[in-house]
Amino acid sequence: MSLVLVLNSGSSSIKFQLVDPTQHATDDPFASGLVEQIGEPKGKVTLKHAGEKHEVEAPIADHSAGLALAFELMNEHGCGPADADIVAVGHRVVHGGILFSAPQVITDEIVDMVRDLIPLAPLHNPANIDGIEVARAILPDVPHVAVFDTGFFHSMPPAAALYAIEAETAAANGVRRYGFHGTSHEYVSKKVAELLDLPAEAINQITLHLGNGASCAAIRGGQAIDTSMGMTPLAGLVMGTRSGDIDPGIIFHLYRSAGMSIDEIDQLLNKRSGVKGLSGVNDFRELRKMIDNEDQDAWLAYNIYIHQLRRYIGSYMIALGRVNAITFTAGVGENDVDVRADALAHLEGFGIKIDPERNALPNTGPREISTDDSAIKVFVVPTNEELAIARYAKELAE
Ligand code: ADP
Repeated sequence: MSLVLVLNSGSSSIKFQLVDPTQHATDDPFASGLVEQIGEPKGKVTLKHAGEKHEVEAPIADHSAGLALAFELMNEHGCGPADADIVAVGHRVVHGGILFSAPQVITDEIVDMVRDLIPLAPLHNPANIDGIEVARAILPDVPHVAVFDTGFFHSMPPAAALYAIEAETAAANGVRRYGFHGTSHEYVSKKVAELLDLPAEAINQITLHLGNGASCAAIRGGQAIDTSMGMTPLAGLVMGTRSGDIDPGIIFHLYRSAGMSIDEIDQLLNKRSGVKGLSGVNDFRELRKMIDNEDQDAWLAYNIYIHQLRRYIGSYMIALGRVNAITFTAGVGENDVDVRADALAHLEGFGIKIDPERNALPNTGPREISTDDSAIKVFVVPTNEELAIARYAKELAE
């Protein structure tokens, strides 16, 4: 079996999967794992393979030591480079700026270009580069491919991509909407074209990626024309711990009147806001239990979440004019029956009718949840960013 190693490197962690690019989105990968607490006194590597979970604890000095340890653990359990036929490595790269619209075979020049984009993603791109350099050193003989989270949104027209900020200042500092989760929106939107049995070029659609991070996209004829995340992944929908859109004046107010530092405000809006900031939990399964127990904070958090989601759906329907399909994906979108029902409730006048029985079916694969007479089709399509990255990597490696 030809496998692709997919790496998602963070500042203190590396998520890895060995993926068969021909598998289904809902299949488990051949192997998967996580290197955690890199650079801290105690580190940990976990590996899942063939229904079993393995773990080692050891100090992990840097990404290089972390990946080496992951490979050792994989080899020990018969799923590492010693036994598995790894034909390519796919790297998730968060920020491709305005440079990259499509995945790239990694060369030294590409690494330098990703490095030049660090000011746009100071937390993410350095970790992505670490992961690329380490993996290229350990697996020098297979092609490495970078897949950019921003790539799919490269096509957005200026009216959607630019902010109404003094043009010179914005341009000098790379201030514009880039969008994120692009790999997921693109993967899901292509799947929708298959489900409708129409070419992507013939379809207008809205994709709703509702996970811990959340974003939505308006896609016309296969090209993204708008998305809710902005220059950073903080904008747009209410998320697990992120605020989504707020009045930017709030930041000045908290800085000037509440005496908070910029770093404290950054933490507040990224980690202590969203559904968690309002209710104390960010997992929708827990939120639902709290709502069932009549917890008022949980109910309010849910309503703010749904209100913001409906705002975006409405604005994208107008932006697109004609809409063929609206699709839910990611942890919340694939599993939370109520979120789907409430996001599209009372829109029969706009041609959107959800079938409650279809909506309640378990998340076993791509499915239609609208009624047969719904003018706009509503789908649930499980996303799998690692699989999408693996497919790009395999394709470019050939
Ligand atoms: P990310 O990749 O952004 O971390 P996921 O797409 O995996 O997130 O989504 C994770 C979230 O999905 C969880 O925090 C939880 O809110 C939600 N979730 C997962 N399973 C379910 C479920 N069965 N019902 C409702 N929500 C779920």
